[in-house]
Amino acid sequence: MKILVINCGSSSLKYQLFDMTSETVMAKGICERIGIQGSALTHKPSGKDSCVVEKDMPDHKVAVQMVLDMLVDPVHGVIADVKEISAVGHRVLHAAQKYIESIVVNEDVKATVRECFDFGPLHNPANLIGIEACEHAMPGVKNVAVFDTAFHQTMPEKAYMYAIPYEYYEKYGIRKYGFHGTSHAFVSKKAIEVAGLDKDNSKVIVCHIGNGGSCSAVLNGKCVDTSMGLTPLEGLIMGTRSGDIDPAAVQFIANKEGKDINEMVEILNKKSGILGISGVSSDFRDVTKASKEGNHRAEVALEAFAYRVAKYVGSYVAAMNGVDAIVFTAGVGENDAPMRARICKYFTYLGITIDEEANDKFRGVEGTISTPDSKVKVMVIPTNEELKIAQETLELVK
Ligand code: AMP
Repeated sequence: MKILVINCGSSSLKYQLFDMTSETVMAKGICERIGIQGSALTHKPSGKDSCVVEKDMPDHKVAVQMVLDMLVDPVHGVIADVKEISAVGHRVLHAAQKYIESIVVNEDVKATVRECFDFGPLHNPANLIGIEACEHAMPGVKNVAVFDTAFHQTMPEKAYMYAIPYEYYEKYGIRKYGFHGTSHAFVSKKAIEVAGLDKDNSKVIVCHIGNGGSCSAVLNGKCVDTSMGLTPLEGLIMGTRSGDIDPAAVQFIANKEGKDINEMVEILNKKSGILGISGVSSDFRDVTKASKEGNHRAEVALEAFAYRVAKYVGSYVAAMNGVDAIVFTAGVGENDAPMRARICKYFTYLGITIDEEANDKFRGVEGTISTPDSKVKVMVIPTNEELKIAQETLELVK
């Protein structure tokens, strides 16, 4: 069975075609600058040369059709007929409290995605356009919505309630939702398998740290807490996002600089985090290089980042009254061994010891980086959100 996975951004569309008998990627690619001059499709078929097609893509409908044409292209294609695609899995950002798992798209699902536009103003509209474009291009083929928020819907009230007047929760649904759910679900499940834990008696903490970042506490396979909130701005320090901050500091800056609330949130989302503290870059590689060259602010940014991750991990040990495994994933978590070492040096109170050689060795690949006598297993597990979306889609349509 072949499953197409689609991830629509406001001006982009990423795709991967999976052969689910072997769970392998047949082709993947990205349409960029949709609706903007200079749009292009980069297509990478497995076992063939990649190609770039520069062509106007005024909207996602045109982009989806271009992707399908490319998949059946006599030279660059990987299938003979679009009819070989059994279903399409869509990454969708926000479903608020409506869906706790993935679901086959119908009119109700589309209405929910639409109702959540306010919560994900950049992503949800694009996600819906992607779904409708596939419905148009492949009539009769099932579309499945896989929500970033779904895995976190098992959080108890004490974890998701903000301590603000209750009416805002009742009127607007203001609460913690959490994101990167597909990744946290995929990685925590894998960690339980790899560490040989009993799922129904397991305590796993996932540190998904990339350009965006979030930690989650997964008790007996279910999420009980996560660091992102109503939006992906809360929690860890990120590439350009502040994470946790005193709201009164935001008011103070706004008053001093004559900025309104929307401008302030834009600054917290786009000009803060590692970029904001270091003044160098949002990319950990650049900031690490600057720190090595003696840039004090770059060093502070990296240590503040590590400290924030360590504090979240500590709070989740408390939330679950223990931990069996801590897992690193995403761009930084999978590749940045020095950052993992920085974070793990805060964990000696847990009886955790790190095998420095193993930590250095596992970059972008799965492995255990704690020593055999460490009280808690510390692992690197590459995330694969696309495969997880394909697996969930298959589960619902087979
Ligand atoms: P993601 O958002 O998961 O794609 O992660 C992007 C982040 O991962 C960027 O800030 C990169 O600096 C970081 N990253 C990717 N590869 C490496 C690497 N080899 N060493 C250090 N950081 C890396």
